[in-house]
Amino acid sequence: MSLKLIDTHAHVQFSAFESDQDQVVQHALDQGIGMVVVGTQTDTSLAAVKLAERYENVWAAVGLHPSHLHAQPFHDAQESIHVKTRAEIFDPEFYATLAKSKKVVAIGEFGLDYYRLEEFTQTPDEKIEVTTKIEQIKADQQLVATAHLRLATSLNLPVVIHCRDAHADLIVLIKQELATGGLTRRGILHCFTGTPAEAKQYTDLGFYISFSGIVTFGANVQATAQSVPLDKILVETDSPYLAPVPNRGKRNEPANVAHIAQFLATLLNIKQEVFYAQLLTNTKSVFKI
Ligand SMILES: [Zn+2]
Ligand SMILES: [Zn+2]
Repeated sequence: MSLKLIDTHAHVQFSAFESDQDQVVQHALDQGIGMVVVGTQTDTSLAAVKLAERYENVWAAVGLHPSHLHAQPFHDAQESIHVKTRAEIFDPEFYATLAKSKKVVAIGEFGLDYYRLEEFTQTPDEKIEVTTKIEQIKADQQLVATAHLRLATSLNLPVVIHCRDAHADLIVLIKQELATGGLTRRGILHCFTGTPAEAKQYTDLGFYISFSGIVTFGANVQATAQSVPLDKILVETDSPYLAPVPNRGKRNEPANVAHIAQFLATLLNIKQEVFYAQLLTNTKSVFKI
């Protein structure tokens, strides 16, 4: 079956899909929707590759999410529990070995996440120590993001970047690596929620901007989507998170990427078939699939 759309960022290897992973994947594929399954640390990266190897129109990305660099309290809305993320040290060799699979089409997700960093510190009542700790976490994230860019370059793969509340630092880091040869290919700013000016900084460098279900209800993100060149727009679900209208609050899944694509086609006033074809072209071009 030929593909209609590709969900460029889904985590169907997460525990939220433990009981029905294959049905969820097949449900999307039956509608002509392929997907890129994105790893966030060693085990979820390995699981993404294994899953991708079982389906023709499923691909994988491997990397270490910035929130897994340090153990952090984390509220999982899907499971309504507070969990603590496991800290991992970035091991480029491990990810390079995974990337030997032909189904690995990108390095990621990795990046910078400065959202609620103060909650991650152990000494909230001592302001100076907290500041030091936050600066340390930011520095660690930047170091590991740079290491991912260099790994992707050594493997000739594009990157899938996660960035929250950190665009100013990320753009500096990307420009520095572009200038010194640490980054040669480009890639995706995933689940983009930045301003039109922030998006332009990335698209001017050749990056793609991927929109999640947030665009179906966030006016600011809609304004950004209207500003991005058509040949740089991608769509994603970020399943199991961020279900779009009309499924807000439920577990998200790759088939829902059609809601996001339809919404954007209407917002941008483009015929649906034309827009879907453009999205598919963009997706194939960034991942070379
Ligand atoms: Zn992310
Ligand atoms: Zn993600």
